[in-house]
Amino acid sequence: MRLFDTHCHLDFAPFAANIEQHLQSAQQTGVERLLLPATGVENWSRLALLSEQFPSIYYALGFHPYFLAQQSHDAVAALDEKIASRGSRCVAIGECGLDAMVDIPMAQQEAFFLDQVALAKQHRLPMILHARKTHNRLIQLLKQSRFEYGGILHGFSGSYQQAMQFIDLGFYLGIGGVITYPRANKTRQAVAQLPLSSLVLETDAPDMPLMGYQGEPNHPKRLPMILEHLGQLQQQDRQTVAENVWRNSNLALNICE
Ligand SMILES: [Zn+2]
Repeated sequence: MRLFDTHCHLDFAPFAANIEQHLQSAQQTGVERLLLPATGVENWSRLALLSEQFPSIYYALGFHPYFLAQQSHDAVAALDEKIASRGSRCVAIGECGLDAMVDIPMAQQEAFFLDQVALAKQHRLPMILHARKTHNRLIQLLKQSRFEYGGILHGFSGSYQQAMQFIDLGFYLGIGGVITYPRANKTRQAVAQLPLSSLVLETDAPDMPLMGYQGEPNHPKRLPMILEHLGQLQQQDRQTVAENVWRNSNLALNICE
């Protein structure tokens, strides 16, 4: 069984000092590929370096909405340059999007998001989307931009109708630890009905702990537990779900199997 953690921050503090060991323990549970999204200009070089050191690591470059206060607008030109000279395992733009819970003006978030959409179009790359209480606005902006290269809506939680709008725009949905919580009823019901052909798995480590592991950093080695829950919701066996999400992950990011 081969698994792809399509969203984890392995360059963050809990892992940074000992990445090789963390990759090994993930690999022992079947996690063979991982996508590390960028936060902003401060971690781009680090991600590129990690992908050169470890063949299982893919990465995205972009501006995470949480960290925009630290970014100057010239950084968009720097992103364009970085992408133009990207390594072969830089496969997407992101993570980028809109977050209504963070104290950064929405106008600034939208400006950075639209710049990244333009770069993704120019370089024909998929995007890793971050959305919190902003799904409808993101859908509106993506439609207005006529964005056609798809990608992954990371950390999906929401309704079936919202999910299908992203799927109609060519996006896959990143399914994470939220489905391990019985109280996440709406999301679990949506995930049960969504087409398996549009789903991928993610841990968002060190965030989004699974049920039973609250209070400790999440880890890519827990991806098989999310797979297990997805299988139950979709009423499919592990192997079928694993094969499908592996194929979907590579398709979403234009990676050869
Ligand atoms: Zn993230």
